[in-house]
Amino acid sequence: MSEHSPSAAPLGVFGGTFNPVHFGHLRSALELVEKVGLQRLGLMPCAVPPLREAPGCSAAHRAAMVELAVAGESRLYCDARELAREGKSFTYDSLLELRSEEGPGRSLCMVMGCDALLAINRWHRWRELLSVAHIVVIARPGWAFPDSGEVGEWLAQHRAPGADALHEAAAGSIVIEELRPLAISSTEVRELLAAGRSVRYLVPESVLEYIEHNKLFG
Ligand code: ATP
Repeated sequence: MSEHSPSAAPLGVFGGTFNPVHFGHLRSALELVEKVGLQRLGLMPCAVPPLREAPGCSAAHRAAMVELAVAGESRLYCDARELAREGKSFTYDSLLELRSEEGPGRSLCMVMGCDALLAINRWHRWRELLSVAHIVVIARPGWAFPDSGEVGEWLAQHRAPGADALHEAAAGSIVIEELRPLAISSTEVRELLAAGRSVRYLVPESVLEYIEHNKLFG
């Protein structure tokens, strides 16, 4: 990686299925922006998840809900780049695109919950992710960090003691952040909706209205 430009604060990208987006994603995203000093954080819905069944809800609906959820918060935005690509949505490809847009010196941070980190060795070119970006892992209720196996060893090898690492280089470190734990998952939101129960206060009102209007997850 060539010269780092410390002038611009790191740019973050938070990938996920967002099926649908909920306050666990949103509050974690905002707290992370403020805690580690990201300039902005893009929530990036996955169009074709490489490792899980295709979501019942289209990528266009999932991205539309992310757009509604972040409206009015300028530090969060919807990064819909994976909807424009054919085939499986590999995070590695998205990071390469971001890297070429931002230049070699910009600090890029890929954000994920610790459940995603546990399975990262199944991701396309997973060991090379750190040559393109940093990884910021959010502790998540009910999930522990890997301390053995190839992911545990990789984590121990690349883990930085704090968020300063994100400002000192363009890529290469793993940083773990403990944020406000919010035990909300999209699975639970979908299950509640399928059972005819309310998801008010688990998702933004605008997302709730979108779900009702488009009769999603019924
Ligand atoms: P599902 O239940 O369908 O698996 P999910 O709620 O885990 O969905 P995803 O869209 O799969 O949501 O997750 C996107 C990213 O957000 C992942 O890295 C995941 O770890 C993280 N994440 C999801 N929910 C939370 C939460 N409540 N707190 C912190 N991180 C979360």
